[in-house]
Amino acid sequence: MQADKLRRLYLDYFAERGHKRLPSASLVPNDPTLLFTSAGMVQFKEIFWGRVEPRFPTATTCQKCFRTTDIENVGVTAYHHTFFEMLGNFSFGDYFKEGAIELAWEFLTRELAIPVERLWVSVHEEDEEAYAIWRDLIGLPTERIVRLGKKHNWWGPVGNAGPCGPDSEIFYDTGADKACGPDCQGVACDCDRFSEIWNLVFMQYAANQDGSLTPLKRKNIDTGMGLERTAAVLQGVESDFEIDLFRPITEAIEAAMPRALAPEDRPQRNVIADHIRGVAMLLADGVLPSNEKQGYVLRRILRRAIRAGERLELPSGTLNRLVEPIVVVLGETYPEVVSARALIERIIAREEETFRKTLRSGEHRLQRALEGILPSEEKVLPGELAFELYDTYGFPLEMTKEIAAEHGIALDVDGFQRAMAKQKERSRKNSIIDFSEGLAVRDVVKSAKPTRFLGYEATEADAEIVEVIMKGDGSAPEYLVFDQTPFYAEGGGQISDTGTIEDLSQGCQVRVVEVKKRPNGTFHHRITPEEKGCSLNIGERCRLIVDGERRKRIARNHTATHLLHAALRRVLGEHVVQAGSFVSDEELRFDFSHFERMSTEEIARVEDVANAVIRDDLPVETREMPLDEAKRSGAMAHFEEEYKGKERVRVVSVGEFSRELCGGTHVARSGEIGFVKIVSEESVAAGTRRIRAVTGVGSD
Ligand SMILES: [Zn+2]
Ligand SMILES: [Zn+2]
Repeated sequence: MQADKLRRLYLDYFAERGHKRLPSASLVPNDPTLLFTSAGMVQFKEIFWGRVEPRFPTATTCQKCFRTTDIENVGVTAYHHTFFEMLGNFSFGDYFKEGAIELAWEFLTRELAIPVERLWVSVHEEDEEAYAIWRDLIGLPTERIVRLGKKHNWWGPVGNAGPCGPDSEIFYDTGADKACGPDCQGVACDCDRFSEIWNLVFMQYAANQDGSLTPLKRKNIDTGMGLERTAAVLQGVESDFEIDLFRPITEAIEAAMPRALAPEDRPQRNVIADHIRGVAMLLADGVLPSNEKQGYVLRRILRRAIRAGERLELPSGTLNRLVEPIVVVLGETYPEVVSARALIERIIAREEETFRKTLRSGEHRLQRALEGILPSEEKVLPGELAFELYDTYGFPLEMTKEIAAEHGIALDVDGFQRAMAKQKERSRKNSIIDFSEGLAVRDVVKSAKPTRFLGYEATEADAEIVEVIMKGDGSAPEYLVFDQTPFYAEGGGQISDTGTIEDLSQGCQVRVVEVKKRPNGTFHHRITPEEKGCSLNIGERCRLIVDGERRKRIARNHTATHLLHAALRRVLGEHVVQAGSFVSDEELRFDFSHFERMSTEEIARVEDVANAVIRDDLPVETREMPLDEAKRSGAMAHFEEEYKGKERVRVVSVGEFSRELCGGTHVARSGEIGFVKIVSEESVAAGTRRIRAVTGVGSD
């Protein structure tokens, strides 16, 4: 039976039995505690937990999953993968153990027609209920119902806390002759005899951060049937890499090899097939190679595949050609891989081209170091060397660790982290905005009442001094806090306003050179006295005047930043995501995810798109709304954590062209920008580009 047919049969079977058929969630979950969607239940985690009410009592999915927990086993065993598909049926307080077991049994023995005598099950050693259901209701002979401990028959939670419970696993017996020997542990054994095809999880507890368990108010069912694993059983092959989903990929690898595939080449071939599939599916879900989080994992498995390709002597440029068979086998089920195909091929080709160059010299460097360590007493590779390989040659830490382990040498991970921290310290000094500078904590806690910001409507206002913070040596006031202010404080990439403060009680004035917003919501205006003897006391009335021309230049640049952001997405693609920005009165800088240098034509097209919107003189509107509504309206919010916990957010839109969550100050109509010109385009980090641009008079 083809994998496509198995997928369809499964979903149809449960849909016919009242389950809501839902699409696969993204591989990148909407959950900051998880890097990847690693199981079918991830999209239902909050429902299982009892934090969200389900909209339907039961559901069924085929979920894209990604894991790197057993990455060293991938390609070596028949059934470990990074990317894989999981079929599942879920009950949210509807049926429980009995219903789940009956549904599973009927599907396996009737729909798939697997002979009853091939099926074994395991249950948690204390789960009498599940044991009795298998024995009495299903009528399974007791010698094929195995009781195992928590190591085998307990599932979850994903992350540090969450829903979990005992489970019951269903195995396919490939035959006693496949056992590893007389001491075979049966279904608990890792050998080839028993193939675990389905896990029924009885989700009845919430695991807390401290490891304790609380019973859930609803008892739930979460099941997972590995698509690749079950397809292997049904297709009568021993390894997942032999099924119809993999064969076109492995065949393409073998065809590209300059020699015949030897048995010992098999793991490398499987690693490439698995990893390139994972790379393609991650890219299709919007992950790009980078040096952190999901992007780092993507880069790591791609480089692992490149290294495996070197070992098989694959010619350069082979890996991107594997996208074709992947699209053929998965494109119908996951159309996102079809739409992202050109991007996937370009990124794999580029990464292969750049990494191959450094791979050999890096491996050479590492090889010499390892040879030096081998005779020594303590077999540890220094962390600084691992960092040099990471920094100079682009070796993911885990790859260095794996190569060292092949020689029986450990790696000083702490030393690596120390070297990395030192590097970060050095580069922080060059970052766009240095957040380290500022006030000591004792200065912050005193005035807890947030400053009211008037600057969206006004550039001048009267206000009362509520706090004066003296210079460290006590010689003069350094910061002033008011009950309200028209001064914009540095934030959201926009620099602060400057201006003048007139002390109306004394008739003297000071300059505001910078404004910072503290975590408690107060605005600290850093001042330099214009005249001597301006003492500034709490309770005095002042007139606050923002430098208006400068504010206008900043507004032009900020609105232009939004236009460029939207234009970049139109010209380069939806993978463009804001990675940082800096808006001043002189220029704007915008960092975004993109994998290669922009061509002159692309830059010109981005400018043309943005300048057309400027010529159209569209209205710039700001609206406050709940975060949910803002997201539904399609507003881009790439620093979502900034908005966490806020009930209402501010959405800035330029006609229908651009819509972003933003707290900055903007022009009233796009025409006020005059003109925008990109003056430079460069790389700031792997996978991140920076453009600098000027507007209006600045662009002349
Ligand atoms: Zn065994
Ligand atoms: Zn903005």
